[in-house]
Amino acid sequence: MQGQTKTTLMSGMRPTGELHLGNYLGALENWVQLQNEYYCYFSIVDWHALTTAYKETDKLEERIFDMACDWLAAGLDPDKCAIFRQSHIKEIAELHLLFSMVIPLSWLERVPTYKDQLQQLKEKEINTYGFLGYPLLQAADILICQAEVIPVGEDQVPHIELTREVGRRFNHLYNTEVFNDPIAKLTENKVLPGLDNRKMSKSYNNYIRLTASPDEVIQKVRSMVTDPNRVRKNDPGNPDVCSAYAYHKIFNASNAVETEQSCKQGSIGCMDCKKALAIQLTELIQPIYEKKQELKNNPDYVYDVLADGAEKTRIVANETMEKVRKIMGI
Ligand code: SF4
Repeated sequence: MQGQTKTTLMSGMRPTGELHLGNYLGALENWVQLQNEYYCYFSIVDWHALTTAYKETDKLEERIFDMACDWLAAGLDPDKCAIFRQSHIKEIAELHLLFSMVIPLSWLERVPTYKDQLQQLKEKEINTYGFLGYPLLQAADILICQAEVIPVGEDQVPHIELTREVGRRFNHLYNTEVFNDPIAKLTENKVLPGLDNRKMSKSYNNYIRLTASPDEVIQKVRSMVTDPNRVRKNDPGNPDVCSAYAYHKIFNASNAVETEQSCKQGSIGCMDCKKALAIQLTELIQPIYEKKQELKNNPDYVYDVLADGAEKTRIVANETMEKVRKIMGI
């Protein structure tokens, strides 16, 4: 962005519905810290959502609004970062198209997740160009912003490597240095299990919404699966098989050792143990919940944030595209 001197960072999320605590831990909590250190572009990647859910567009607008509210409620500050909707920056689509002219098909076919996902999501009929080409769209997202740092989990590193290769190939083909080499910043992989101890998933409904009401938090914590062998309150328990304990370790870390011991000794009942967890979770979630209620009542503000973020991003996107068009003789 013009006038800013910080290192630039870029990241995005697909608008697939309201965020849950797993999304918060996996990315958003980290972004809220990163915005103080880097100049950040945070994109609600709605075109990416279409790569796997192109038939389900009726809720897209609502989900984008919801995601913007969740991000702001969790602490992203539009004065510190650009928060925008990917499809507001048409230059990204143009760069994606131009990349698709120069990148060999084999580069996309060898992306490790491609064949796995085709198999896993086969009921979605995603044998499309859009799905094959989404790592190239991701490269366009990153390279158009001239982003230098990309926060990722380990599984995303091959995608960033592909982005680097795309930029290098373009630079080499046209004897230019228009694209820099973004680096992956590995983020700590904090994985939260579902409330039933299975993998957290929207389809299992085994999660706590990031903006759940206090009553909803209590009800969700009550439903958590505990040690099934603990029949009476004083039976010694095994916290390692208990989903409530997995949450204690993360959200009530300073008391986790005591909780573990009390559970093993049978000196605390599961109801009391869950009550203590619900208090900690409510402390985290309630301000986010209240902030989101405020934002939902002020949609003009949220849409202004997205428009302003798009305007900031468009400046750098235009700068990049002017160079690219000139280089390619377009
Ligand atoms: Fe889980 Fe706490 Fe019950 Fe132990 S006492 S099984 S950690 S809920």
